[in-house]
Amino acid sequence: KGTNGKYTVTLIPGDGIGPEISEAVKDIYSAAGVPIQWEEVSVTPISKGGKTVIPDTAIESVKRNTVALKGPLATPIGKGHVSLNLTLRRTFNLFANVRPCISITGFKTPYDDVNTVLIRENTEGEYSGIEHEVVNGVVQSIKLITWEASERVARYAFYYAQSQGRHRVTAVHKANIMKMSDGMFLSACREVSKDFPDIQYDEDLLDRVCLQIVQNPKPYADRVMVMPNLYGDILSDMCAGLIGGLGLTPSGNIGRDASIFEAVHGSAPDIADKGLANPTALLLSSLMMLRHMNLDEYAAKIEKAALTTIAEGKAITGDLGGRASTREYTKAIIQRLQ
Ligand code: NAD
Repeated sequence: KGTNGKYTVTLIPGDGIGPEISEAVKDIYSAAGVPIQWEEVSVTPISKGGKTVIPDTAIESVKRNTVALKGPLATPIGKGHVSLNLTLRRTFNLFANVRPCISITGFKTPYDDVNTVLIRENTEGEYSGIEHEVVNGVVQSIKLITWEASERVARYAFYYAQSQGRHRVTAVHKANIMKMSDGMFLSACREVSKDFPDIQYDEDLLDRVCLQIVQNPKPYADRVMVMPNLYGDILSDMCAGLIGGLGLTPSGNIGRDASIFEAVHGSAPDIADKGLANPTALLLSSLMMLRHMNLDEYAAKIEKAALTTIAEGKAITGDLGGRASTREYTKAIIQRLQ
């Protein structure tokens, strides 16, 4: 917190629709009087010693502030580029990806009672990037699971459940097939569960969860599901579909050295610079950030204004079936704040 009573937060507007949706969040925050000042940085990669890297100023800013809000980054295609998202994850040890999936009251989807939180291990598993060709026509891709990373994400899942008033943690797995890797992930979860006697703990198979949740999401309400990297990637997009799509789903990358909050969606190049983007996912991500910073009061106020605007349906964006521009939707939220 600075001398002016405001917290400094790094803002990475990002590519494509990133600047438009970031603008919307900034306008809403000014109107709500959130005690935050943004430190805007670009993460457009630069060439350094023959490698493509994120500029030091961006890294320094996130390091200093320890909290960042990030727009989507277009992954450059071609050799010599690394995924910037992966770089950020590695640089700041962003070990847990938190993705709440909660139905918006009044916005019609096949179900109106989805209310779950997925926590995805963010650093290893199927994404460890260790692949090689054994002989011609035979490749091997290694799923790396460590006790340390499993224990760390499990502990965060229990902590999150406890702090958010959720009563159950479910570990999602395929330990019937991947006996050693998922087996160890489960052992770590069981071990951590002993430290949280108030939180119920159980385990469920990934395929079973997929089937059950699309048939009836209700039993999954009120809980947190924790799982290895790839399962979390797929299951969370499936759950996003249950509540109305990518324009609505927020996420937080929780790390040892910093936490970065971002929408689940990408840079949407097909609608960039047209004023059509839905800023809700980034806005809801920023509200996760406010709660992470213990600024719950502001989060609740903005959340109410945004969700009632969506439920009313008069000023919603095209992806939700409306006709409003990004600005018109933003303005409708701001009017409700006053
Ligand atoms: P995308 O999420 O950008 O778009 C998928 C579809 O959803 C598009 O039709 C798009 O118009 C729509 N959409 C997404 N967000 C929307 C919003 N807020 N409002 C309205 N409509 C929205 O996925 P993609 O096209 O596969 O990827 C585009 C680029 O984004 C790629 O370079 C990809 O690597 C990158 N990407 C980045 C992140 C990230 O930074 N976290 C995540 C996913 C993809």
